[in-house]
Amino acid sequence: MIEAKTGFIDHSQILHVLENSSSPDRGEVAEILSHALEMKGISAGETERLLMVEDNELIDEICRTANRIKNEIYGRRLVLFAPLYVSNLCKNDCLYCAFRTTNTSIARRTLSLDEIRKETENLVSQGHKRLLLVSGEGLGESALNYFIKAIETIYDVKIGNGEIRRININIASLSVDGFRQLKAAKIGTYQLFQETYHYNMYKKMHRSGPKANYVNHLTAIDRAMEAGIDDVGVGVLFGLADYRFEIMALLQHVRHLEERFGVGPHTISIPRIEPAEGSDVSLSPPHAVNDRDFRKIIAILRVSVPYTGMILSTRETAKMRRAAFFLGISQISAGSRTNPGGYSEDDSGAQFSLGDHRSLDEVIADIAGHGYIPSFCTGCYRLGRTGVDFMDLAKPGLIQLYCLPNALTTFKEYLEDYATAETKVAGEAVIEEQLANIPSDEVRKKTVGSLREIESGKRDLYL
Ligand code: SAM
Ligand code: SF4
Repeated sequence: MIEAKTGFIDHSQILHVLENSSSPDRGEVAEILSHALEMKGISAGETERLLMVEDNELIDEICRTANRIKNEIYGRRLVLFAPLYVSNLCKNDCLYCAFRTTNTSIARRTLSLDEIRKETENLVSQGHKRLLLVSGEGLGESALNYFIKAIETIYDVKIGNGEIRRININIASLSVDGFRQLKAAKIGTYQLFQETYHYNMYKKMHRSGPKANYVNHLTAIDRAMEAGIDDVGVGVLFGLADYRFEIMALLQHVRHLEERFGVGPHTISIPRIEPAEGSDVSLSPPHAVNDRDFRKIIAILRVSVPYTGMILSTRETAKMRRAAFFLGISQISAGSRTNPGGYSEDDSGAQFSLGDHRSLDEVIADIAGHGYIPSFCTGCYRLGRTGVDFMDLAKPGLIQLYCLPNALTTFKEYLEDYATAETKVAGEAVIEEQLANIPSDEVRKKTVGSLREIESGKRDLYL
């Protein structure tokens, strides 16, 4: 029974579309894009048609539409975070990952709580406010307890005005009860990537360990939501199966969550496979995604699910990251290390190689120089605007009303406390320019007031 093996992902429907669809013509694409511009998302059938587009000019059209939607809904904000890798021990054998159990070429390590504190201190001292805690699946019974203690340790770090205000989590799937305990530890988003939704490819890539169970992995997000975690993040590791299959299946996953829980994922991550030590698959992925198709993927996701945040990591180069911001990315990591201890020491034992090696300040200077506003905002999560409550806010104009002021004030904090002189000049100019885009005189006035208060030493002001 294919359904029993593949859960709610309807493989035969997707394969049927892939085998039987021709490219849409200009008129059909224009019609779908004009529907997309209503900013309520498009149907699964319409997304399927866009995925079949191969003509470069029509891909550019999709990209321009994605950019209009992105600007209308998110403005020029980019939320910044850093990953914190706590352990590279793993009992799974994911062929693309350096942490896989059979790879003997990296040094294995799990950080002590003191080491986690030290890593956090380094990140806080750079100006980070949002972390993504990442781990391999090698800690056995003690794992959950360890993660909860790690979270407490991270939240406990205070240096001057600096602190971590939101911890998102990317760790192996848990039981409903395990997720309840994780929620009680005050996590932000729980993220888990399906890697590939294609069952046969999944089985080929995940040879042993708990993650080899496709349905158990697929239903992890359901368990997290059952446990009350209502900000969840899904993702695909691009390069494993045909990207068109992955997007159709990913959207089936989104619809499944919407039907079952009344709200879809908070974020979608879109990593592409990067070279990883001890992994042949990472050097020549079975379905490598080129830059053109990667842009198409981001644009199609933006027009299909306009209110779901999209995350891009430092796996990508600075050039590709800039192209991706234009198309609809709303969150990026910066100044990242992918090895446990990497912010305090050397970079041996990394998970994969990075495409962007710049420091947080260099990334910020660059994005501010391109007219984007780096945001460290954690307002929604701390005011309980998560899940359905966040989606109620997610209407054109409304996000700008709350998120833009919060982006400006958190960016101002960064400029006051951490920025180099050069970044400060570029940053102040962007703040000045963006104040005009706050769509309410009253909120603009309030924001100007908050910016002045921050100059005189106040911190953590948000709407
Ligand atoms: N161990 C957990 C898991 O696998 O779900 C969470 C942490 S794992 C280190 C985080 C993610 O790294 C994986 O979900 C996978 O998508 C990504 N990853 C692994 N190898 C990669 C590679 N060679 N290039 C890019 N991303 C990779
Ligand atoms: Fe382990 Fe995650 Fe890497 Fe797989 S992707 S080997 S589960 S760390």
